[in-house]
Amino acid sequence: MRVAIAGAGLAGLSCAKYLTDLGYTPIVLEARDVLGGLVAAWKDKDGDWYETGLHVFFGAYPNMLQLFKELGIEDRLQWKQHTMIFNQPEKPGTYSRFDFPNLPAPLNGIVAILRNNDMLSWSEKIELAKGLVPAMLRGQRYVDSTDKYTFSEWLKLQGVSDDVEQGIFVAAAKSLNFIDPDEISALVLLTALSRFLQQKNGSQVAFLDGSPTERLCQPMVDYVAERGGEVRVNSPLKEILLNNDGSVKGFLIRGLNGAEDEIVTADLYVSAMSADVMKVMLPAPWKQNEFFQKLDGLEGVPVINVHLWFDRKLTDIDNLLFSRSSLLSVYADMSNTCKEYANPDRSMLELVFAPAKDWIKKSEAEILKATLVELETLFPQHFGGENPATLLKHHIIKTPHSVYTATPGRQEYRPSQVTPIQNFYLAGSYTMQPFLGSMEGAVLSGKLTAQAINAQAKLEALSSSQPTPTLQPATNAATA
Ligand SMILES: Cc1cc2nc3c(=O)[nH]c(=O)nc-3n(C[C@H](O)[C@H](O)[C@H](O)COP(=O)(O)OP(=O)(O)OC[C@H]3O[C@@H](n4cnc5c(N)ncnc54)[C@H](O)[C@@H]3O)c2cc1C
Repeated sequence: MRVAIAGAGLAGLSCAKYLTDLGYTPIVLEARDVLGGLVAAWKDKDGDWYETGLHVFFGAYPNMLQLFKELGIEDRLQWKQHTMIFNQPEKPGTYSRFDFPNLPAPLNGIVAILRNNDMLSWSEKIELAKGLVPAMLRGQRYVDSTDKYTFSEWLKLQGVSDDVEQGIFVAAAKSLNFIDPDEISALVLLTALSRFLQQKNGSQVAFLDGSPTERLCQPMVDYVAERGGEVRVNSPLKEILLNNDGSVKGFLIRGLNGAEDEIVTADLYVSAMSADVMKVMLPAPWKQNEFFQKLDGLEGVPVINVHLWFDRKLTDIDNLLFSRSSLLSVYADMSNTCKEYANPDRSMLELVFAPAKDWIKKSEAEILKATLVELETLFPQHFGGENPATLLKHHIIKTPHSVYTATPGRQEYRPSQVTPIQNFYLAGSYTMQPFLGSMEGAVLSGKLTAQAINAQAKLEALSSSQPTPTLQPATNAATA
């Protein structure tokens, strides 16, 4: 059976990978000339990579880790020391760490918090524990019920002070969805915290050993191609063509550089494009359907990824860093964290600039200037004196609509992978799965779509008594 998939982000590629495992023939049609969607990366004229976003993988990503295993590329994940490192704005140039000892969860997390005395006083630790411990004990159903609050509102209900919110959770909210605690749904923070506290290595991070496009997406393409599938770049879906009964007749692909448009037909069709694109692409008859109308409740959040190459080493820290500065979220010195970007003499900082809604339309020069001002407090020793570090070059990637903005109430708008249209499915991290807008969520959504397609085929085969293959089950439990 042939399945046409629009979009070669992680969700589209994962869907194709798992469909080939189940004996289907996927054809993935990607609009751009690069694989990966939000994990896409490019090489500049010097051979240096720059990326759509700084990406880290967590120990709490079961489906992603399983995928690496299935592709035979586990050695490409570079696991870092299990610690969370925060800049200290009140002491520029210094860091505060939450070191997770080699103990079972949640003990390792509790010890990490108890041992940190820079960011939380004893009274604040007690205040926070009183709010968080009951939430963790009440389980995922309780966490799901908190989608009606912003994280700030939820913290206030627990009696947690503004100082704790400012000290820790601004950085956490910005790193998870590029917005502040007074905007982000409490569900997002509590979901992440429960995974991090309940799984021993849940919050341990790994960096890929090179660009996601080459080191993760390409192996998925090769896997699919070796099994009879196909992935085409430069193939933008222009229109979803319908039969009279509203089912999909074909994907109309825009011809580029003067080429004719082409109709791609298949037995089944999948959109693995973002919710923002899918909304625009909806055929008129589907717009009447409540299922598709709900997409209006989802909108991608703006974010900016800044890459800076310096003439010297600014730090030797080989891990993710939380800046706790007003314009920046997380960052890393990729010359330390990533094998292919390694440089013993010069730093390459990759920084997530967020919240970006007031900056996304500003010029690169303005964004660069503001970033460098923030760096003066992160690395005063390299910018204040007589011989300041010199910026050699930069790349800035703006993404006006990235993952869905996880404000309160969004869960209700996230669609299932199965749609009311019998030969049309959705994949993408915005579709309903418990890992929210993440790489894990994208990979899981693609797998769930492949499983839903196969389940439907199974039902149909039951009536004609044809056997259908099975997949290793998706790890869909939020705290698996
Ligand atoms: C700055 C940044 C940092 C991030 N950091 C992390 C992190 O550290 N850890 C983590 O887990 N997640 C992180 N994420 C989130 C993660 O990147 C996404 O959740 C995930 O990559 C989304 O994958 P997707 O396949 O669902 O969507 P997308 O990546 O958006 O894929 C959609 C694809 O559809 C294609 N498309 C669009 N229109 C058409 C068309 N007309 N025809 C055909 N194709 C089309 C697009 O080009 C794209 O390739 C980060 C995201 C950003 C932006």
